[in-house]
Amino acid sequence: MVPCGCTGQHDPRRIVLTGGPGAGKTAVLELIRHGFCEHVVVLPESAGMLFGGGFPRNSHDVVRRAGQRAIYHVQRELEESAIAREPAIVLCDRGTIDGVAYWPGPGDFWEELGTTLDRELARYHAVIHLRTPPDSDYNHANPLRLETAREARVIDERIARAWQTHPRRFEIGAEEDFLDKAARALALIRVELPDCCRAHVDQASMMPRTNIAAPSTASTTATTRRNERSGMRTSRR
Ligand SMILES: [Zn+2]
Ligand SMILES: [Zn+2]
Repeated sequence: MVPCGCTGQHDPRRIVLTGGPGAGKTAVLELIRHGFCEHVVVLPESAGMLFGGGFPRNSHDVVRRAGQRAIYHVQRELEESAIAREPAIVLCDRGTIDGVAYWPGPGDFWEELGTTLDRELARYHAVIHLRTPPDSDYNHANPLRLETAREARVIDERIARAWQTHPRRFEIGAEEDFLDKAARALALIRVELPDCCRAHVDQASMMPRTNIAAPSTASTTATTRRNERSGMRTSRR
C-alpha cells in the first residue's frame, strides 16, 4: 500500500476481479495491495470469509442456496463499508453476479434475492475476468477449494456467461503466462484511477517482472505499453 498525498474528493468506482478457481486472482490482488495507493481498497472475498469462518458447506441444495444468499448479502455490505471510506477504487474479489455460477436452483437466483441481473451489473464500473488455466496447471494449495480441475473449468465458464453482458468486461486468457496476466490486470486497474491517485503510482515499480528479473526501464515501459494496448483491445470485444 503506497501512501498517497492527494486531497481530492474521489467518486468511488467499483471494479470486480473475478475468475474460476485457480486463475491466480489471490496473487494478483496481493500485487495490487502492494503496488497501488491507499485509495484503492481491496475487499476480501465474501465466500472465503464465510466458508473460512465456518459457514456450512456441503452438496445439499438447501445448504448451497443458503451459502449463495449469504455470500450475496455479505458482498453488498462489504462494498457499502468500503464506499464509506471514500476511496478512488473499491476492488472487489468477485461481485454479486458470481453467485449465479454456483446457484443450484430450483428458482431464479435474482428473484430469490429480490434484485435483477441488470441492477447488479450496474453496480460495477468494470469487470476483469482472469480465466482458469488448463487442467494441468490447477492449484490445489487452497484448503477452501473443493473443486476438481474439470469442475473449476466449468465454473469459470459459468462465471464468464454470468458477466457476459457487462459493457466493460475485460477478459484475460488462461493461456497466457501468469506474470503477463498479472501485468495486464494491473494496467487495466491503473487506467481507472483518477489523475490525483495515478500520478504517484509508479508504472514500472508495479510490474511484477520488475521485482523478479529487474529488466531495464526501457523494456519495462515497452511491456507496460504492450499490455495496456492488449487491455484496450479486450475492452472492445
Ligand atoms: Zn486521489
Ligand atoms: Zn491515492
